[in-house]
Amino acid sequence: MFTSIAGRSVVVTGGSRGIGRGIAGVFASAGARVLLVGRDRSALEEAAASLKGEVATVVADVSDRDQCDHMAEVAVERHGGIDVLCANAGIFPEAPLADMPEAELDRVLATNVKGTVLAVQACLPALTASGRGRVILTSSITGPITGYPGWSHYGATKAAQLGFLRTAAIELAAKGITINAVMPGNIETEGLDELGPEYRRKMESSIPQRKLGTVEDIGFAALFLATDEAGYITGQTIVVDGGQVLPESMMALEAQ
Ligand code: NAP
Repeated sequence: MFTSIAGRSVVVTGGSRGIGRGIAGVFASAGARVLLVGRDRSALEEAAASLKGEVATVVADVSDRDQCDHMAEVAVERHGGIDVLCANAGIFPEAPLADMPEAELDRVLATNVKGTVLAVQACLPALTASGRGRVILTSSITGPITGYPGWSHYGATKAAQLGFLRTAAIELAAKGITINAVMPGNIETEGLDELGPEYRRKMESSIPQRKLGTVEDIGFAALFLATDEAGYITGQTIVVDGGQVLPESMMALEAQ
C-alpha cells in the first residue's frame, strides 16, 4: 500500500526510552536508518542494542543549539542525510502553579519548546536536501485540548509546539518539507511509570478504551506521517488517545 521508507535517515530526539524509543523501533523495523538522540549515553546504547535494524546514537541536549547542530552533523555523516526528524524529546515534571519554581518553568520551556525549534532548525539543511523532508513533533492532548493540575507549564509547552508548527508548515512547504504533530494521550512509558500506580489506575478508568496506549501506537502514527503518501498533509495533528478526550463527563463513561 505505502511506498517503503527503507533506507531513509530518521533522527529521533528523546529516543533512549519511552515514546521516542517506540517511534525509533517502528521506523527501524520498517528498514529506516535511525539515529537516537538523548543526554544519557548508556541509556542510548541500551536502547540501540534492544532495537532491530540500523540504529546509531548521539549524545545531545536539544535545548542547546551547538548540540543540536552536532546531532544533525552526525546524522548526515552516519546516514548520508536526514529525511525525517521526530522531535520528541520532552519533560513533564509536576509543579502546582502556586509553588512552581522559576528554574523549573525555564527548564520545561527550554526542553519542550526551544528544544523543538532548535532541533528543527539544525536539521533544516539536510531535510531540504532530502527533497521529501518530514518533521513529526510529539505534542500531547495536555495543553492543546485538556488540562491537568500540576502541568500548567507543561501544557503551555505542548500547545506552543502546535503554534510553532502552523507557521513552520507554511515556511517549510516551499522546501518540500511537511511538519505535523502526534498528540498522545496517556502512553505506557518510563516517564509515566514514575507518576505511580494510582495515577495509572485512575487514568485507565477515564479512557473509553480502558487502557493506556503503547509507544508503538505513537510510532505507527509518526510512520504514517513520514510516508510519501502523507506528503500533502502539513501543519496538522493526529490525536492518539483511545478516545480519552471524548467523554463530556465521568457520567459518559459510567454508562458503559
Ligand atoms: P520519557 O519516558 O521521560 O522519555 C523522555 C526522553 O526524552 C528520554 O529519551 C530523555 O532522555 C529525552 N530527553 C529529555 N530531555 C532531553 C533533552 N534536553 N535533550 C535530549 N533528550 C532529552 O518521556 P515520554 O513519556 O516518552 O515522553 C516523550 C514525549 O512524549 C514528550 O515530548 C512528552 O511530552 C510526550 N508525551 C508523553 C505522554 C505519555 O503518556 N508518556 C503523553 C503525551 C505526550 P535523557 O533524559 O537521557 O536525555
